[in-house]
Amino acid sequence: MKSMRLFLPFLIVTLACSFSNTLATPTLSAPTLADPAVDSVSPAPTAVPVSSGPLLYISGTSHIESAPKSWPDHDAFLAFLQQVTDLGLRWSVGADVGWLEGEPRAAEIIQKSEALGVQWDVHTHDTADRAKAAWLVTQLGGHPNSVVSGMLVTELDAMRQPLTYQGYTWTPQILWGGTNCPGHRPGCDDLAAGLWSPLSSDQYQVHDPNGTLIRVGGGTHQLADALALARSISAGAYDHPVISFTIMVVPSTLRIVESADGIEQIADFARQMNAYPFVRWATIEEIAQAWVQAGRIPSRIEMP
Ligand SMILES: [Zn+2]
Repeated sequence: MKSMRLFLPFLIVTLACSFSNTLATPTLSAPTLADPAVDSVSPAPTAVPVSSGPLLYISGTSHIESAPKSWPDHDAFLAFLQQVTDLGLRWSVGADVGWLEGEPRAAEIIQKSEALGVQWDVHTHDTADRAKAAWLVTQLGGHPNSVVSGMLVTELDAMRQPLTYQGYTWTPQILWGGTNCPGHRPGCDDLAAGLWSPLSSDQYQVHDPNGTLIRVGGGTHQLADALALARSISAGAYDHPVISFTIMVVPSTLRIVESADGIEQIADFARQMNAYPFVRWATIEEIAQAWVQAGRIPSRIEMP
């Protein structure tokens, strides 16, 4: 019984990660949302006031799984995080408990990456591991944020209250990534861009004006699709104040998920995106904060 209970979530997470590679565990509390740092996330140039139209927030993220064969090369991973940071991108990492407990240099990677401005989301394949993963990050000298990086939409209600592990409490506030059906079959992943507060597991795509959990849609994670979204916004296709998209890189290959695009293509992508005055670089958590600051206007955008 126990093995079944543990195996199913693991299978679901594994499949979800292999496909979209994006899950985390968050909690946006009032203090976090009211953080003065919000104002410094993406200061709008005076020539482009926020009220002038949509802002497209781009985040970058990576998931490190529990299986050692999928772990990144330490130095190459840190060098990559340095490179994307130098490009002006904002990045987050979500590591499952296997890596947090088993990687000898986990503390070094967490601390050095945080010094670069990288944030640590909570990504686990088992609901019960989320508070443990957050706790482990703190034990390794890091500061986990409130982002649930990946989940089944059926886990929504379980994320509505603080989670605990050995007396440590971690409160999800932001939901990123996710899948609609076990097995991660085609069509299961929710690849929408944009933000909203999910009403319920059954009506996950419906915005709840009174909702507290914030869904940050990552889109397809592909560079070309983010560029296409930017072109659409430039053409006036949307009027939502805040729109989100996340590019995702596999830590062991340092390439965009399901793509051959690496740091060179990401650098070119950054140059192209920076040509749009409405593009901002922010972490998943920072995007949620910007969305709150802008009035919580739902901006779910379906993507192919
Ligand atoms: Zn995973």
